[in-house]
Amino acid sequence: KKAEYPRFKSKKTHRYSYTTKYTNGNIELYENKVKLPKIGLVKIKKTRAPKGRLLSATVSQVPSGKYYVSLCYTDVEEVLFPLTYNETGINLGIKDFIILSNGEKVENPKYLKNSIEKLKKLQKQQSRKTKGSRNWIKNRIKIARLHEKIANQRMDFINKLSTRIIREYDIICIEDLKVENMLKNHNLAQSISDVSWSKFTTQLEYKAKWYGKVIKKVDTFYASSQTCHCCGYKNEGTKDLKVREWTCPKCHSNHDRDVNASINILMQGILAN
Ligand SMILES: [Zn+2]
Repeated sequence: KKAEYPRFKSKKTHRYSYTTKYTNGNIELYENKVKLPKIGLVKIKKTRAPKGRLLSATVSQVPSGKYYVSLCYTDVEEVLFPLTYNETGINLGIKDFIILSNGEKVENPKYLKNSIEKLKKLQKQQSRKTKGSRNWIKNRIKIARLHEKIANQRMDFINKLSTRIIREYDIICIEDLKVENMLKNHNLAQSISDVSWSKFTTQLEYKAKWYGKVIKKVDTFYASSQTCHCCGYKNEGTKDLKVREWTCPKCHSNHDRDVNASINILMQGILAN
């Protein structure tokens, strides 16, 4: 009651944060409260706490107005996932989020698509409103809230997916996609899927370290979607992204574009070392 919400000063941005280091019990996490320096006890939504040594707390306010506190721990207890003796190659899809070398296709969740459609509508409305007007401000907050919701939905999706992949496979081969290349292809849905892909690979990498699994990155120069995984023939005709299925002119194997690419990524990753 004594302390107020932190006030942030910059007017240029709607994203604010500050970090304090842990010393002598100035930060403490309880069941549904957190103790912060100068502020004292603050109610929080219940969360899981890792077993480790607390280093610092970062308090931030996101554009929609909500406050978050994130606690940074070190020396966190290691838990290894049991070995499954399975390996996989993963390809970033256009229609699907990812395609695995065993043929499994993981679609982008429907709720994510719906939210993106809504966002498009709001952004169109925003451009028609007078800058700085009351409706313009109202709409800006709506957009900020929806951005936040999409980010949360996306994080939830890739968090669950990356944990499942790490649990099911011991060796995971992925494409080493360069973000600069991705930004050239710019539409809303695509850019969100690009961001998701880099977050997904980051999560795979740190979870592999945590749980004792292996990630192998395959160079993008390797033409995974053009090469027949059966005989190695390079089919230039599949450069066109519209080609979803093709038959190898040399060995006559029939390929699903994405699954063939995933199998190539797996083989390339395993052969690399
Ligand atoms: Zn072939």
